[in-house]
Amino acid sequence: MPQIHRILVTGGAGFLGSHLCERLVEQGHDVICVDNFFTSQKSNVAHLLSQPNFDLVRHDITQSIVLDVDQIYNLACPAAPGHYQYNPIKTMKTSVLGAIHTLGIAKRCRAKILQASTSEVYGDPEVHPQPESYRGAVNPVGPRACYDEGKRAAETLFMDYHRMHRLDVRIVRIFNTYGPRMHPYDGRVVSNFIRQALHNEDITIFGDGSQTRSFCYRDDLVEGMLRMMDAPDDCVGPINLGNPDEFTILELAKLVIELTGSRSQIVHKELPTDDPTRRRPDITLAKKHLGWSPRTSLREGLEKTVAWFRTIRWDEYRAPTPNY
Ligand code: NAD
Ligand code: UDP
Repeated sequence: MPQIHRILVTGGAGFLGSHLCERLVEQGHDVICVDNFFTSQKSNVAHLLSQPNFDLVRHDITQSIVLDVDQIYNLACPAAPGHYQYNPIKTMKTSVLGAIHTLGIAKRCRAKILQASTSEVYGDPEVHPQPESYRGAVNPVGPRACYDEGKRAAETLFMDYHRMHRLDVRIVRIFNTYGPRMHPYDGRVVSNFIRQALHNEDITIFGDGSQTRSFCYRDDLVEGMLRMMDAPDDCVGPINLGNPDEFTILELAKLVIELTGSRSQIVHKELPTDDPTRRRPDITLAKKHLGWSPRTSLREGLEKTVAWFRTIRWDEYRAPTPNY
């Protein structure tokens, strides 16, 4: 019989967090989801509210909170560039104070704690694909810095609590992940293209579309996070989690048009400042230490994602900020 844990998931009502909560509730754990609903809404976890082993707390992680748990997944943070740049100071506070407050809980309870870090710690990388040993090329004063440097500072705090207080910490660096329950107005490329395609609106490619990303399906990603939490004590990380299949943004746009049968036209808009030109994870460490690699191809994952987007009521979603 597997051990039942009391688990805190910050950002648990979000795209990845709600799926993580779902998996943990299914496994029988006692799950506390903490979220301020900045980039999500209660409906993402509405189906869990009737479960006796699920609690939802509306709380902003920039403020401290007292909870008794033995595992923590720290996901609270806006993840889409438009939304994290809307209030960059708040974004930095969410990463840094959120890390301090969750690490504080972990220290008091001697809980194991996992940080949802990001491929953005590599900035606009000169090394390709990106291994964990690469230290990155982040512009510390650019518009993406609130997120990139916030996440880098959070990694620093995690490692310092590990070294100083012997906390059992885990760091995963997540590469672009997509799937059902992405916010339809989150402004990320997959949700934007699908929304535009389903409405036969112009597909907005920023720049010439030659920049690359490697897209991971959410179920694969959540499986990787669960494995990281359950990995042996010396598996601290950071470990990359992502799908190494790399695509240009133009290829993605064409695939979305094909899968939706859309009449949309492709238009080009200005490339945002500091937009990384290419990104692909080296997942050697995830394979070796977690026995993990993604199973879902982009085509298969997009088919499932498009099918979900076809079922939603668009008027039930409010855009978190005007930037989508
Ligand atoms: P998301 O925006 O759907 O989820 C983030 C959640 O955090 C939302 O529910 C939001 O309301 C909540 N939140 C934001 N600020 C908060 C605060 N101050 N207090 C409490 N809750 C707050 O995004 P996601 O894609 O599910 O991302 C989850 C985590 O994974 C984030 O930390 C993100 O940086 C990281 N990540 C995601 C990706 C990806 O491609 N999806 C890539 C790299 C890293
Ligand atoms: N992008 C785009 N059109 C959009 C949204 C994004 O061309 O409507 C591009 C963006 O410039 C970037 C890539 O798609 O090169 C991925 O953007 P996203 O915001 O999803 O995530 P990022 O990896 O940049 O954090």
